[in-house]
Amino acid sequence: MLIIHNKKKLESNLPEIKQASIEKMNQIRIQFSGKINWDFLETLTLLDSQKQLVDYKRQGDSQQEDTINLFTKKGLDLTKPYTLTFKDQSVPVTTGAVVRTKEFDDLFSYDGPLGALYHPNKTIFRLWAPTCCQVELLLFENNAPDAALSQVLPMKKGARGTYEISLFGDRKNQVYQYRLSFPDGKINETGDPYAKAAIINGDRSVVLSPTETQLTNFKRMSAFSKPEDAIIYELHIRDFSIAENSGIKNKGKFLGVVETGTKNKKGQMTGLDYLKDLGVTHVQILPMFDYGSIDEEKVDKPQYNWGYDPKNYNVPEGSYSTDPTDPKNRILEMKEMIANLHEAGLRVIMDVVYNHVHSANDHAFNKVVPGYYFRYDESGKLVAGSGVKNDTASERKMMRKYIIDSVYYWAKEYSIDGFRFDLMGIHDIETMNDVRKTLDEIDSSIIVLGEGWDLPTSLDDDQKASQKNAQHIPHIAHFNDALRDDTKGHVFEAEKPGFINGGKNLEVELLKSMMGGQALDSIRGNYLAPNQLIQYTEAHDNLTLFDKLMITNPNDTDQQRQARHLLGTSIPLLSQGIPFLHAGQEFMRTKNGDENSFKSPDQINQIDWDRPYKYKENVSFIKELITFRKNQPLLRLNSYEEIKKHMIPLIATDQLIAYELKNKKESYLVVLNASNLPQELGNKELGNYKIYLTSVKTKRKNEFPALSVTILKQK
Ligand code: CA
Repeated sequence: MLIIHNKKKLESNLPEIKQASIEKMNQIRIQFSGKINWDFLETLTLLDSQKQLVDYKRQGDSQQEDTINLFTKKGLDLTKPYTLTFKDQSVPVTTGAVVRTKEFDDLFSYDGPLGALYHPNKTIFRLWAPTCCQVELLLFENNAPDAALSQVLPMKKGARGTYEISLFGDRKNQVYQYRLSFPDGKINETGDPYAKAAIINGDRSVVLSPTETQLTNFKRMSAFSKPEDAIIYELHIRDFSIAENSGIKNKGKFLGVVETGTKNKKGQMTGLDYLKDLGVTHVQILPMFDYGSIDEEKVDKPQYNWGYDPKNYNVPEGSYSTDPTDPKNRILEMKEMIANLHEAGLRVIMDVVYNHVHSANDHAFNKVVPGYYFRYDESGKLVAGSGVKNDTASERKMMRKYIIDSVYYWAKEYSIDGFRFDLMGIHDIETMNDVRKTLDEIDSSIIVLGEGWDLPTSLDDDQKASQKNAQHIPHIAHFNDALRDDTKGHVFEAEKPGFINGGKNLEVELLKSMMGGQALDSIRGNYLAPNQLIQYTEAHDNLTLFDKLMITNPNDTDQQRQARHLLGTSIPLLSQGIPFLHAGQEFMRTKNGDENSFKSPDQINQIDWDRPYKYKENVSFIKELITFRKNQPLLRLNSYEEIKKHMIPLIATDQLIAYELKNKKESYLVVLNASNLPQELGNKELGNYKIYLTSVKTKRKNEFPALSVTILKQK
């Protein structure tokens, strides 16, 4: 009697099931609200959708714990509901980490085309959703965000976890979404992750007829010579034209980038004309795919963002178009911008951000296959190596396919000439090599570059597409932060100087970077060739060089500051590898000390089109360097053997760096003096040389002025 009474009492105090989830194709994990004695689990039953008992075995480390695992004899069907009953509880089993297993990818990964596949007389809608029990296609009356639902159509199960429906007739411009039902009862509605067009603010997708969004004569430029010949100029669409003094009509728009004949109030060239005249080869444009942080319905209200918060990866951003309510408008206008840049001889590098999304829970990825496209830690929390709390999982087959498909689409459909991978170190090596291979099929001169930082994401170190692993991802370039930091000082320690602003003992490492960085310490990169280095001293991130100098050298005269800045801006252009300038760097761009201006107002971010003329000597020297570089193959060598032969280090000490560029016919001496005093070049015999270019006027070829760049040429 007594024993039975106690048992009953114990049963009423038993912990409850908190959560039950499928972790592997034959494994369910159950979390209880407290520790449970196995003796009490006799009544735990697992039922399938027909209410039939499913046979299982229990397993755990001890017989007294709060999490247990059930192993079923047969594989579970992820599209069917399972229920656990225990005491008076009945709990639906949810789909858990099983989606992140290799087995799942082996069973379901799908390599065919996805999205709304348009033909004039039929459109096929195909979605990969292997954990759904039902998917419906929702059709809406029109483009308006509040347009009524006009039809709900059930989709048929296709191969390998896909759902599909064909609609006959011409379905161009049809607005649609998917409604997904999951076995545990959850229902999600979402746009298509593969959408190529979308309504304003991007929550609903639109069927795109490619014939309606073609420009006449829009095609790829002929192949580019080689990456080292590129000079990249990084700009943001809104920054470029939004200032009053841009004289540009389509301010903040795709079309504003390519207006010609524009002038500031003093009648001086702005915009595209200025850019053409500068002589760069590639413009790298900050995110221009559809991102989430700008309300496209309020384009008249000043709003600003860099755009590193992807929403629709394969749709242009609406706020850059003149009419975001018309899904075709942004596509045509972005193409028009690219076509006109091409016409001006400028190639376009697109900044792509596949490493994270605007909001993991709201993104189509997680609405369609919850838990699949992102990385999670052991406790089921999203991994935040990107710093944005949702690292995507490129190592999984369908995320990798997504990146490849997306890059291919932009390259092909929009004739993009290069891709800059944001936080590339989040991605895995295999994905980046696949990206390279895919683009090579279109045009092997498409430049691929990225931020190869070593980030704390849940990927083995040897799998990360980081600088350290550069030798495993050939023909992909990394931002060389070693050159950047050795030139101007660390980006996060504002007061720390580099070579140009008073830093000591950086000459040797900096010269190594300038020579293409082969011998940089291994954390800074194991490079195969100079084409793997993006040489830069300023980008959209962190303080501009000008703002940094205001902190490290507050007592400089204007003249000293300009000289120092010019030295810093010249270094990438006088380096082997691929030089990169931040828009306006050549006229000492300032953001008033704002080091993370990603959502700061236009007043901070806009290009001030009076400044190129205020600092016209700086601009004209940079132009001369660009011309020198373009005419001088010795600065654009494509192997370390060549560099060893033709770029001879002379001095790297005491704030002085000098090297010789030579071949059988000619010789140049490049001298960088970062000291506040003039310096001489030791015992080097300069009798045969004359001054070719100098950033600080001097007539004495054997004495290099304070804070100067000088190039001597053999007579
Ligand atoms: Ca948007």
